[in-house]
Amino acid sequence: MFNLILFGPPGAGKGTQSEKLIEQYNLIHLSTGDILRSEVAAQTELGLQAKKLMDRGDLVPDEIVIEMIRSKVEAGLDANGFIFDGFPRTVAQAEALDILLSNLGISISCFLALAVDEEELINRLLNRGKDSGRADDADENIIQNRIAEYVNKTAPLIGYYKGQGKFKDVVGTGSVDDIFNRLCESIDVLIN
Ligand code: ADP
Repeated sequence: MFNLILFGPPGAGKGTQSEKLIEQYNLIHLSTGDILRSEVAAQTELGLQAKKLMDRGDLVPDEIVIEMIRSKVEAGLDANGFIFDGFPRTVAQAEALDILLSNLGISISCFLALAVDEEELINRLLNRGKDSGRADDADENIIQNRIAEYVNKTAPLIGYYKGQGKFKDVVGTGSVDDIFNRLCESIDVLIN
């Protein structure tokens, strides 16, 4: 299997690029943000709990997202591989993912980090908020909190995956197609 973590701060373009990459490489897209938003829409108990945190731009507890990912991975083992988008977001999540995958005899193939500067991120998110209907994209203070969560809790993953020799950074600015082509170049080196 080819299992990719597509990494980057909020607004880096992980969701957009994941949609293109799953077509190109026939992978399953696992976005914890999307899964959580579908729980919110269905008004499940988990969704109601998560909504309060998401609307503030805080991370939801590790155990919740780890269990969500566990069931999706176990259900998708006949695929070519997975793209993890928005997960892992803490070192505890990364450790849990490594254990989960190794128990299934698979592993992370690579960690591609989209690099975008903070000013561009804030502009992109505020723009997306105009039509996405996402409460967490509508307010600059909430966006700043999401970026702070990223810096404090998520950015340490760069060191974690560098330690495993899996880290590669990719310029995350330019057209959607330019960024896609850069990602494909990095992936093709690994799978060919
Ligand atoms: P973005 O990358 O634009 O911030 P996501 O859709 O990935 O958006 O996440 C939206 C929100 O969902 C996050 O701010 C957080 O509250 C929650 N969330 C998503 N994935 C995780 C995760 N792996 N761990 C904790 N919280 C998460």
